[in-house]
Formats: sequence, structure tokens, C-alpha cells
Amino acid sequence: MLALRLGDPVIDLRDQLADFETAARRLLTQPARPRLVLVAARPATCHPDRPNLARGLCRRCYQGAWHRGELTGIRTNRTQAQFVADYELLRSEGYTRRQIAERLGMAYDSVSHAYRRAVRAGALTPDRRTA
Ligand SMILES: [Zn+2]
Repeated sequence: MLALRLGDPVIDLRDQLADFETAARRLLTQPARPRLVLVAARPATCHPDRPNLARGLCRRCYQGAWHRGELTGIRTNRTQAQFVADYELLRSEGYTRRQIAERLGMAYDSVSHAYRRAVRAGALTPDRRTA
């Protein structure tokens, strides 16, 4: 908000009106830009008419399951590559394995199993030991 006080120099924009009008006309005559359309790569298994948010669930069902604490019982279809990417990212941000499990909606034991499998497969470097 422009607050003018007594004694401030007055800015006269009248000589720029023609420029403003030209700019406004240019904006008004521009063709509308095509809108981006997001295409869901995978439909949810619970409601195939909705996009998959995670674990085959649409957003509403996922949030409901999350609130009811049911997510750990729903099997994820996360591939090892996806698990490794998620795990490495969260680990690099300083998360503990327990926090990583929480963030991924996985049981701690499931994360530990997936971690050991990934390390054995050479897809993941072992956790750094902290004393
Ligand atoms: Zn659903």
C-alpha cells in the first residue's frame, strides 16, 4: 500500500498512460496459454476413477487409513529402487531408521528387512555407524 504524506513529491503518471494502455491491450489480445493437464500415471485400486496417491489408495482412502493407523497393514508396492531412493534421501536428511519407517508408513521391522535386502543386493550403502 502506498502511503502518501503531505510534502511527498507527487508522481505524475499521466505521460505514461499511453504505454499502460498499449501494455494492457497486448495482454488482452494475447491468446490464452494452454493449461497444464496432469495425468495420473496409475489409478487407485480402491477407487479406479481416482488417481493413486500411495499404496494403491486414493487420497481420501489413504488419509482415512492414515488416521485410523492402518497404513502399516497395507502392503506397499514400493520397488527396491524406490525404497532405496526414499531411504537414502531421508537418511541424508538425518532421519533415524525409526523416523524413516514412520515417514514411509512402514513398520520398523519392514524397513530393517528392506534395508538389509537392499544392502545385500548392493543397491544401498550401509548406514554410517554413530558412536
Ligand atoms: Zn479410495
